[in-house]
This record gives sequence, structure tokens and C-alpha cells, in this order.
Amino acid sequence: MNVALKSQSLNVSNRLGVSRLVGQSSWRRRRLLILCYHGISLADEHEWNSALYMSASMLAARLGALRRCGCHVLPLGEAVERLYRGDLPDRAVTLTFDDGYFDFLGRAWPLLQEFGYPATVYLPTLRCEHNLPIMNVLVSYMLWQRREPMLTAPEVPGLGADTYPLATPAQRTAVIKKITDTIDPSDPEPDERDAVARAIARRLGLDFDRFAADRVLTLMNPKEVADLAGHGVDFQLHTHRHRTPENDEKFVEEIRENRARIEAMTGRPAVHFCYPSGVYRRSYLPLLHAERVVSATTTQPGIADPSSDPLLLPRFVDTSTVSPAEFEAWLHGIMPWLKATV
Ligand SMILES: [Zn+2]
Repeated sequence: MNVALKSQSLNVSNRLGVSRLVGQSSWRRRRLLILCYHGISLADEHEWNSALYMSASMLAARLGALRRCGCHVLPLGEAVERLYRGDLPDRAVTLTFDDGYFDFLGRAWPLLQEFGYPATVYLPTLRCEHNLPIMNVLVSYMLWQRREPMLTAPEVPGLGADTYPLATPAQRTAVIKKITDTIDPSDPEPDERDAVARAIARRLGLDFDRFAADRVLTLMNPKEVADLAGHGVDFQLHTHRHRTPENDEKFVEEIRENRARIEAMTGRPAVHFCYPSGVYRRSYLPLLHAERVVSATTTQPGIADPSSDPLLLPRFVDTSTVSPAEFEAWLHGIMPWLKATV
């Protein structure tokens, strides 16, 4: 269905009260909607990447819709327990934020406090401790922001003497791939990545240190995490290096390093996991079990029910491109209900 038609039919079902009926059904009451967010713009990030970033005003509208639709927003741990115990409240929803960008503290947290909603942040700890902008996203953001038609940067590894067009998102992504392909993925030392981001910034006439000082595309630091944990924000597992190695021991090491660091910062157990970049393998499930991980979320779109594998829980990734009507259809459950029954 095209976007306009989908939006129109959802508006009609909202008006006719079909959404409300599904929202009040025992079908919806047995289910938990886990919402996934990434960044909330400090400035214009949502104009650069509408799949990764949302404006603060849009997040405020989403939280308003949760309240208007009578959703019960539960902490992740409680929600998962009640999902399997079969005593969820009406229209149960859980809010999760992936990656722990600084803008969670700057933009999302004040809104969550205003609405009184709990939230879980899945935190990769390497870039929390090594607190500088994330190279690949910052490079993408800078290439977009500068709007240069072409780039020649022989000093940047992987680019050589060639000139690259930058007009379209696909062309900009191709440049970033050229660079990241030259960086050894088994060597996660962040300094090399910082040097690349600095070199591109210099070439584009932008100030890397300004981005770093403004915390653009930078994660929360350990002190900020500790402070927010003290105010009730739930920090959970997302691997130390934001990666999913195929090798069993390396994967387990990622979980253990991540857990030790999060628990040291927050003083609370980290037992819920989110697969970085939505990548999961069947081979991970027994490993997560053995590490006493209670739940794991994917980016498979859907609503969790008691038959869902707790280590493969679906989520709805809410982005700037989702219309208000579609968002409400997810809250009431009509969207997943249509998927399951039609
Ligand atoms: Zn992530």
C-alpha cells in the first residue's frame, strides 16, 4: 500500500472507532508494544537522517499520543515480566532508546520527565567512555551539512586521489563505505576513527572540536549515565563495541565487558539486551541464556505476545517518516492486528 493510501485508511479506521475497538480488545491486552527510538535532534539532525533522528517537537507529539490513547507506559523489566505472566494493563507500551546519544539527556529526558514515562537506554560502552562523535555518522552528517558537490581528500584512508560526487544520500554513503572498508573491523581502537573524522572535517572547512564540544552525534559519558540512572533511567546491554561478532567467545566477551561497565556506572543489574544494528543469529540465543540475559529486542517490526521468544522480541522503530495516524494505529494495535489477521 502506498503511504498516502495507508495514511488515509488508518485515518478512516481511527474515525470509525475500529482502532479503539482493537485497542480495548483482549487481543491487545495480551500484547506489549516496544517502541524503539534513536536520536532526538539537538539541531537539524532529523533533516539529515529522518530514519535515525526525530525532532524534539515530534517526540513530544508522540508522548502526547500515548497519553491521549490511554496507553500504560511500563519500565522494560516490569513489562517483560507481566507479558509472560499474562497480567499486562490495557495498551501496554515500553519506550526504548538505542545507543545512548547525548541528545537523550538534552532532548528526550526533559520530555519523559514532563510526561512521567519510564525509559530504557541500550548503551554501547566503548564510545560512552571514549567520548567523541561517532565517526561514520558524523562524517555522513558533515557531508550533508556542507553540501559540497564534490570531495577530493587524498589524506583520508581509502579515498585515494579520486574525486567523489556528494549530491545524493547514496553517493555520500558510498564515500563513507570506502573509508570504513579500510578500517580494520577487528581493531576497534577509536583513535583511528577520530583521525578520519577530523581529516574530513578539516577538508570540508568544519570544526571537529566544535562538534565534540556541542556533543553532536556523541554518546552520554559515564558521569551523565550515572546521574540519569540515579534519576531512574534504565541502562541496558548493547555490546561494548556496538558489534555482533560471529565468534561465540567474542560475542560473549562483548556482553560481559558491556555489562561490567554499565553496572559499574549505574549500580544496577544489566540483564536486558538489544542486538546492535538489529543483527541477530540463532547461535546467540543459548549464549545469551547462559549469560542470564532476560530479554533481547530486535528491530523486527511487530508487537510482542506471550508466545514471542523473550530473546527475539519485536519492536516498532518509530521514525520521522511515520505519520501520526500510523503511530496511533500501532498504539491501539490495529496495525499489527491487520498484519496478523489479513
Ligand atoms: Zn545501536
